Amino acid sequence: MAPMTTRPLLGQTLPELTAWVTAQGQPAYRARQLHQWLYRQGVRDFRDITVFPKSWREQVQVTIGRSVIDRRVVAQDGTVKYLLRLPDGALIETVGIPSEDRLTVCVSTQVGCPMACDFCATGKQGFTRNLAVHEILDQVLTVQAEMGRRVSHVVFMGMGEPLLNVEAVVQAVRRLNEDCGISQRAMTISTVGVPQQILRLAQAQLQVTLAVSLHAPTQDLRQRLIPSARHYPLERLLQDCRRYVELTKRRVSFEYTLLAGVNDTPELAKTLAKLLRGWQTHVNLIPYNPIADAPYQRPDAERVKVFQAVLVAQGIAVTVRQTRGLDAQAACGQLRVRR
Ligand code: SAH
Repeated sequence: MAPMTTRPLLGQTLPELTAWVTAQGQPAYRARQLHQWLYRQGVRDFRDITVFPKSWREQVQVTIGRSVIDRRVVAQDGTVKYLLRLPDGALIETVGIPSEDRLTVCVSTQVGCPMACDFCATGKQGFTRNLAVHEILDQVLTVQAEMGRRVSHVVFMGMGEPLLNVEAVVQAVRRLNEDCGISQRAMTISTVGVPQQILRLAQAQLQVTLAVSLHAPTQDLRQRLIPSARHYPLERLLQDCRRYVELTKRRVSFEYTLLAGVNDTPELAKTLAKLLRGWQTHVNLIPYNPIADAPYQRPDAERVKVFQAVLVAQGIAVTVRQTRGLDAQAACGQLRVRR
């Protein structure tokens, strides 16, 4: 078979699909049907679109752009981690997190990650490539079909650094919103910070929540945990966050992974509170999830409570992220392709 060099259909807007359909000599209304099959029914193969004439289905050379599920691991709490294989053989992980009132998908934005944060399994795996728009959408559609219910929330917190792939991430947000019907306000983009890219994201004027992975209230400690922080000082990162709030009128929240004896002391909680004073923000504490090859430990519940209490006493809104999918190695920071 000839190699398929055409652009995948998944990720295309209705006007783009209309252009493609009519260029094929088909009536324009078929674009609407195609759109439904792609984004609502989650079709995987063009030949399965039974409302289309058989002759067209059989002769057309096009790829939809769906992955293959290589493996699934179900955690005790119902969280499911999927290992997905892409056409070039690359493997990525995506996680479906069900609860009573919502189904959240945690999507990857890169194959691996170049940021190399010391406590993150993906960082230990290294970087292969960015994901394309359709490869991000595919993860949501896959979880939706697999779990048999509508995805209501999407968090860009899987493998990779979303702001190193801003163009595709912004497009994915738009398609998930306009074509899959998921509210932008139900999406969160998480970043450890990449110079210039927070402002680039602000220019897209999305209604998503931006979550910034802080993990330390001082530059010194932060750059020990996050090598890339050396090139993006804390002060500049926070300046860009302020600018993001001004430009988008949306709040920025902060993530803080608690590592026992490293960044979880009450003193550091106070420093953090001081740093964030005057922000209308929200801090999300993530007790460390153990990974191989990292010298860290999860603080006990009491320690987490004290850290939280210090922030609350200083008037900072704070939540502790409920650990999901731990026994499936599907919790925050545990995504890493093992074969
Ligand atoms: N690269 C982006 C997206 C990853 S989101 C970012 O850094 O924000 C995953 C979140 O989990 C980040 O806040 C990350 O720092 C945190 N994390 C990484 N490893 C972890 C671990 N082992 N335990 C708990 N949280 C971890």
